[in-house]
Amino acid sequence: MNLADSGSLAAVLNSRGYRPVESENDADLIIFNTCSVREKAEERVYGRLGELSSLKKNGTQKRFAVVGCMAQRLGERLLQRAPYVDFVLGPDRMFDLPRYIEESNGSAFINTEFGHENIGDLTPVRDTPFAAYVTISRGCNQYCTYCIVPYVRGEERSYPAEKILQQINSLCADGVKEITLLGQNVNSYQDNGLDFSALLSEIAKKTAVRRIRFMTSHPKDLSDRLIETMANGPRMMSHLHLPLQSGSDRILDKMGREYTYGHYRSLVEKLRATAPDISVTTDLIVGFPSETEEEYQMTLKAVEEIQFDSAFMFRYSPREGTKAAQYNDDIPDPEKIERLTGLINLQKEVSLIKNRNEIGKIWSVLIDGFSRRSNAVLKGKTEGNKTILINGDACLIGAIKNIKVTSADSWTLHGELVD
Ligand code: SAH
Ligand code: SF4
Repeated sequence: MNLADSGSLAAVLNSRGYRPVESENDADLIIFNTCSVREKAEERVYGRLGELSSLKKNGTQKRFAVVGCMAQRLGERLLQRAPYVDFVLGPDRMFDLPRYIEESNGSAFINTEFGHENIGDLTPVRDTPFAAYVTISRGCNQYCTYCIVPYVRGEERSYPAEKILQQINSLCADGVKEITLLGQNVNSYQDNGLDFSALLSEIAKKTAVRRIRFMTSHPKDLSDRLIETMANGPRMMSHLHLPLQSGSDRILDKMGREYTYGHYRSLVEKLRATAPDISVTTDLIVGFPSETEEEYQMTLKAVEEIQFDSAFMFRYSPREGTKAAQYNDDIPDPEKIERLTGLINLQKEVSLIKNRNEIGKIWSVLIDGFSRRSNAVLKGKTEGNKTILINGDACLIGAIKNIKVTSADSWTLHGELVD
């Protein structure tokens, strides 16, 4: 979501004549688009701000903008710790940055109002010419007890389907072949009676985009209709990111997730019965307040039973103002780290098994560039959202090709072009 917002902000700045530069030293304005989900992310921003503040002390005319969730959460308090910051703008206000710069009178400026984000019809700047994020809703009404997102991103608002279709069409005209629809909970998308499954059908019907992905789905709202659309809908990629968070029903209840592990498992079973090759990925938290060793083991058991293709794994980080922040954060840090390490090691083994199972399969792959290590090797994404490396000619970049998986490790597949 932050990458998508950064792309929109870059488009707004470009349209007003601003240009990106390679190094902080050359910049007149340095923007930090921030995350508040865990404390560590915020500490990193302070660290980086501290390092760069010397550039300002040198007497240069640089200005600093801290935008996004951390700006929203801390507002005025951010200036107490980093008084050299010029603009503090919440996730919806960041797109007004050019106006604030033009109107600025030299003193720090803070705005954390929600809503009416002014992105206009601009096409967001993106990392690759062939794939793009498309935000379909902002905010969240779910209030999971550990999570800061509803407080810093405000109420859930769905964008009109018409606007989403328009944006996808202009992205396609600009060379995009794959889109990822974004929302904190895409399954609760609503536009005048049009729900998420219907939106997917509209996109398939009314745009030329070749590959459709989305993130994130809340298990409590994953309908049979959506499972059916995922399995049989045209141009749908074969991947579902479905955050489980914990394998213990008591912890899930304390997290306010509104489903049990049994329900989650039955969803995955249904999904795999309908679409056997689909990859399923998840988010997991260890060390939630009062999580016992036994309950942690239930999360490990869930990982073994469900066999996720991959997972984002976190140790619980209390966030001020959330319901869980009132609970006793009683799992000591070294214990949280130990639990997290155990979980990561297990998932690594499972990912290896899942990836090795891919050997011999043929996937349609969007080849989007060179591998990080070598310009002789191309990289792409399978339908299941796995990175695959391929020996091939640079002229294949941007193409969608059938690739046969030939080998695999825990993180990456290797493959060859099929005639
Ligand atoms: N809307 C998405 C996730 C947003 S946050 C969803 O519901 O899936 C991404 C992930 O960060 C969450 O799924 C959760 O696993 C993790 N997370 C959120 N708050 C956290 C906290 N306080 N401590 C540790 N992990 C957290
Ligand atoms: Fe946070 Fe839950 Fe909303 Fe996801 S659904 S953003 S975890 S409150």
